[in-house]
Amino acid sequence: MSDHWDEEEEYEEGKVPREREESLCPCKSRRSYKTCCMPFHYGRAKPHTAEQLMRSRYSAYFFRLIDYLVDTTHPDTKTPELGNEIGAMIHQVNWKFLRIVEASKGGKDDKTGKVEFIADYFVDGEPQELHEVSRFKRFKGAWKYLDGKQ
Ligand SMILES: [Zn+2]
Repeated sequence: MSDHWDEEEEYEEGKVPREREESLCPCKSRRSYKTCCMPFHYGRAKPHTAEQLMRSRYSAYFFRLIDYLVDTTHPDTKTPELGNEIGAMIHQVNWKFLRIVEASKGGKDDKTGKVEFIADYFVDGEPQELHEVSRFKRFKGAWKYLDGKQ
């Protein structure tokens, strides 16, 4: 499995190339995309934990899957403009690396969860770092992203 895609590949909005399925998942799980975040992106499975959802949202930013990002945002914080807002910035950012610092709650029997992470990315070739604690909350049984604090 190769990791080389992460470098310069530009992804068309809402589409993941077939040949990308076998290579490593952008979320740095060391698993193939096909066995990691892809089933969530394609609606074939739902994340069991808040951390899985967080990882799949990172991968969705990576592949520019705007619909998935909107769908996995909790109705409590989702605005009608969210899709347009994500669409306006998603092409300026190239995601590079994800590290999960800590996950608390967010398990199978929890209703809420928190995931602290550090994500490295580039904007106009300039390296940036996002250090965030994201909050997650279930909605109709499924994990959703509530908000984040940087
Ligand atoms: Zn993944």
